[in-house]
Amino acid sequence: MQSYSTRHIYRTLTAVAATALLTFAAPLLAQAPTPEAHFGFRMGSDGRLASADAIEKYFELVASRTDRVKIVDIGPTTEGHRTIAALVSAPENIRNLEQIRAANQRLADPRTLPPDEARRAAATHKVILAIGCSIHASEIGATQAVNELLFTLATSDEPAVQSVLQNVVIVLLPMLNPDGHRLVVDWYERGKGTALEGGPMPWLYHKYVGHDINRDAFMMNMAENRNLARFFYTEWHPQVFLTMHQMGTNGPRFFVPPNDDPIDPNYDPLIWRTAALLGSAMALELQRDRHTGVLTNGMYDYYWPGYEDSAPLGHNTVCLLTEVASAKVATTIAIRASELRAGQKGLSEYKPQINFPEPWQGGSWSLRNIVDYDLSAVRGLLTAVSAYRESIVQNFYEMGRRAVEAGRQGAPFAFIIPPEQHDPQAVAKLEQLLIQGSIEVHRALDPFRADGEPYPAGTDIVLMAQPYRAYAKTLLERQAYPARRATPDSPPERPYDVAGWTLPQQMGIEVRLIERVFEPPAMSRLTAAVIPRANVWGEPRPGYYVVDARGNGGALAANRLIAAGGAVSWVTNGLSAGGFQYPAGSLVVPYFKGAEPIVARIAGELGLRIDGVKGKPPGDARPIGRGRVALYKPWVENIDEGWTRWLLEQYEFSFASVADAEVRAGNLRAKYDAIILPSATAERLTAGHPAGVVPPEYAGGLGEAGVDALRKFVEAGGTLICLDQAGAFAIDAFKLPIRDVARGDDARFFCPGSILRVELDRTQPLAFGMVPRTAGFFSFSSAYDITPSRPSADGHGGDPAPGSIQTIARYGDKDILLSGWLEGESVIAGRTAVAQAAVGAGRVVLLGFRVQHRAQSYATFRLLFNALLTADRPPATK
Ligand SMILES: [Zn+2]
Repeated sequence: MQSYSTRHIYRTLTAVAATALLTFAAPLLAQAPTPEAHFGFRMGSDGRLASADAIEKYFELVASRTDRVKIVDIGPTTEGHRTIAALVSAPENIRNLEQIRAANQRLADPRTLPPDEARRAAATHKVILAIGCSIHASEIGATQAVNELLFTLATSDEPAVQSVLQNVVIVLLPMLNPDGHRLVVDWYERGKGTALEGGPMPWLYHKYVGHDINRDAFMMNMAENRNLARFFYTEWHPQVFLTMHQMGTNGPRFFVPPNDDPIDPNYDPLIWRTAALLGSAMALELQRDRHTGVLTNGMYDYYWPGYEDSAPLGHNTVCLLTEVASAKVATTIAIRASELRAGQKGLSEYKPQINFPEPWQGGSWSLRNIVDYDLSAVRGLLTAVSAYRESIVQNFYEMGRRAVEAGRQGAPFAFIIPPEQHDPQAVAKLEQLLIQGSIEVHRALDPFRADGEPYPAGTDIVLMAQPYRAYAKTLLERQAYPARRATPDSPPERPYDVAGWTLPQQMGIEVRLIERVFEPPAMSRLTAAVIPRANVWGEPRPGYYVVDARGNGGALAANRLIAAGGAVSWVTNGLSAGGFQYPAGSLVVPYFKGAEPIVARIAGELGLRIDGVKGKPPGDARPIGRGRVALYKPWVENIDEGWTRWLLEQYEFSFASVADAEVRAGNLRAKYDAIILPSATAERLTAGHPAGVVPPEYAGGLGEAGVDALRKFVEAGGTLICLDQAGAFAIDAFKLPIRDVARGDDARFFCPGSILRVELDRTQPLAFGMVPRTAGFFSFSSAYDITPSRPSADGHGGDPAPGSIQTIARYGDKDILLSGWLEGESVIAGRTAVAQAAVGAGRVVLLGFRVQHRAQSYATFRLLFNALLTADRPPATK
């Protein structure tokens, strides 16, 4: 059948011609070109992709030719590209955008608008509907479809389109990941016409985080997520947000909400009911257009709040996700009926059922099919949002009102962040991400009591009586994952992402949940989070400085002092100076020329106390050198590598990225003191991409030669640091007498992304700067049983004696689960979580859980940092 856009182009042209005749006195805008005319091909044509620059140009061009479109920039990407949004609506709405935006902000916060006024506002207010395309850049169809969507909305005079434009301000985000779009298009063009066309790209489609770019929404480590949060929560605050993704090729063609269970009960139920309504409108339109294979009520849950399209749920935005089956980027594929598969949640058999009434029968599947399905779904959504405009607006206000009311009732009434904390940097990050998420954080100006406990002035308070209560609550409270099984005997159903995320635990911050209502003290609202300044005490021209190096700032302090040329050491037995007890792991550095401004910055910016002391540093101090660090970068794109690279940059570690060829070439010890393996299975690390799917230089993984080179590196005194799953590689490669007891049987032990109790041996430099009991992020991670093959006497200063294996951290003995979901606690109780094994003259460090999980787990970053800071030891003598 004729496509949506073609029909509209014809009618639009006719309508424009008629309008021009009647209103010749008005200034005439040249007609916006069709996407086909602008790009030189029809959107979705086989093998053709609209580039990022061309899409930006097209959006600007259309905006210049119509009074229905305004382009705004929402901020630069990680690599400095623009992120544009088009605000699309009727001309009178575009003229009144600022009033609409201001009215929308008032509707978002019921404390600024009485209910009767809100009702009156809702009678005329426009729904703000945001549509975001292809945050996962290889899921590229939406970035192509959006050009036709823009053209139709900007030019069509069909009554249905007119009505939508009257009722809705549509915020089109043509690329949610503009950097990634560039990378994917470049790679596709490179392979075009070869046997590798449409094949996998050997690197991430975002400089650091690849696919995880949509799993950083509350943490906002990446610029893209900070930009979107600011644009949404402080400017446009959409009532409805649709993001358009793609999924695998052999299942359903299309997914629309409702999503799957479980739900987070913190969100207002109106969210789910509205999502179901709008999802059904999309499914209906798809069905009307005979787009078969559409699934609802399955596959994807919204339990976890870290997606770009689930973080706004706690801000009373109805979030919608669509997923369409992929082609090979822009290359058409063929799928036989016999290749079509069910088995996803919500679809046990590939046959007609209530949530999948007309299965697709197989055949060719092209980028144009994807564009058509996407446009059909959006048309259904626009129709429904327009038709339900008033109730969507009214409900938006109502959800905020109910949130404030619930918060006033207590249970909980507030979360309290006491001022005395172990890691001031982590606290500042937590408060900053809450503030960037439009959560109100207040600082007490006077002492007060809550739940019977006294708190000093300077305590920070997150009151629950605020419109985005659900967002703050879900980030700060403990999760008890509502575990599900299809039948009592079935294996547990895995959450789509993780089961627990409680930020105070992951970040090692004491945050108290206050159930009962209390009288808040005089308070001031924080507009930014800053680390409280500490001072440099003692001698102005000392023999040496001692630095309180706790928390992650302690690693940064060490790196800054080393970079400035300081001879930095760790205090191994504690040290008293200026009336302050500096614990083991504090830093000492002899005075050096130019030290003053550096120590002043460390105290001022990192909040770490420093004393200048007369005389010489203590003799038992353990030197920290400039370890030469390499981070292995596999050609099978590895998100953990990207996160690690980003984190090391933030903490000012200098390091090199090494790829397969360099590792296989050997002689690694001459160049490096430490090599980090990102989390990946042993199979993936050694085998990499098979030959024939990527260019030959990217195929093959570490291979035998690489494994052998890593063995020689360690035997010659190097440190191999294995993140999470990479531990299995080292256990095998080095024949370590270690067994991972967490592997094997889901029915016996199951822990999908949860926070567990971890206990540390703080006499070990690997645990310096940490607290004795902390929390570790565990996601199908490891718990080690170590066979004591040889005596494991400690060497001096915590270095393992030759042949020994030390336990640095172990899981708790009981009550191990702090947040999320754990079955089979006894399997890992008391087992080793972090181990250090002496091998030859070097060592292997097994970080058995996700110590740097998505740069969220501040509580355990130090385990990685300390492994690097201890890496330049001279080879141990046998
Ligand atoms: Zn996706």
